[in-house]
Amino acid sequence: MNSCIIGGPLWKLNIFPSTEQTFWSRVDKRERRDCWLWQGGLTAKRYGQFSVRGRPMLAHRVAWIIHHRIAVPAGKRIIQTCWNRLCCNPAHLRLGTYKTHAARGNKSGRQTKPEAWSGKSVGTSKTSQNCPVSVELSEATTPGIATNLGMTA
Ligand SMILES: [Zn+2]
Repeated sequence: MNSCIIGGPLWKLNIFPSTEQTFWSRVDKRERRDCWLWQGGLTAKRYGQFSVRGRPMLAHRVAWIIHHRIAVPAGKRIIQTCWNRLCCNPAHLRLGTYKTHAARGNKSGRQTKPEAWSGKSVGTSKTSQNCPVSVELSEATTPGIATNLGMTA
């Protein structure tokens, strides 16, 4: 039903079953409601970092990709609803925008913005702007990986 945002097979993202195994072996998996903490390396901003074929990616982003079996839609980022930068629990990860995240950064309370929190339903019924989703991972592999708040411009 979400054919619109299917980003292609994971192997196109260089994520293979063995990659998944390695990835989850570095996550402290717990109950669904708990945070699943990343046990591997960190970025400068102390987000989890996982290398896919030598290319650094944000760990929670990889967790979302593996869980949903799709690429992150272009222009979107993965937000940790629990505010735990190391959390890789797919239940705590949502699709959002850079803009939303920046706005959230200024406030302490949680906001409920439907367009930012609708998760997988993004792009299903409205415009076709979100399709096709680019399969590229450049957003996460550029040197600016740790400074993504400043990437909106
Ligand atoms: Zn969490």
